[in-house]
Amino acid sequence: MEQGYFQVTCKQCHRAFSVKAEAGATVKCNCPFCGSETTVAIPLMQQNQTKAQQPNQQIGKRKTGDNIARCVIIGFVIIALGLLLISTLLYAVFTAMSN
Ligand SMILES: [Zn+2]
Repeated sequence: MEQGYFQVTCKQCHRAFSVKAEAGATVKCNCPFCGSETTVAIPLMQQNQTKAQQPNQQIGKRKTGDNIARCVIIGFVIIALGLLLISTLLYAVFTAMSN
């Protein structure tokens, strides 16, 4: 596991300080501001990794957006085709009725 400094917010005084710990570990440490012992769960993802993941998430969002756009276009096409079919059917029915 990688060891590094993690930004931690104290539960007592809500002030941020850094703690050297392993990623994904739960660490007990004393707050340098108020001195109270706080148990901190270190997140698995470090800042560098989260920064690297952000562009991928944006691409994923764009992909889902494209999918939604495609679904909307397909839906409109289906609706248009359905309206065409209904109008032709109605036309046929009305012409049959008039005769
Ligand atoms: Zn504190």
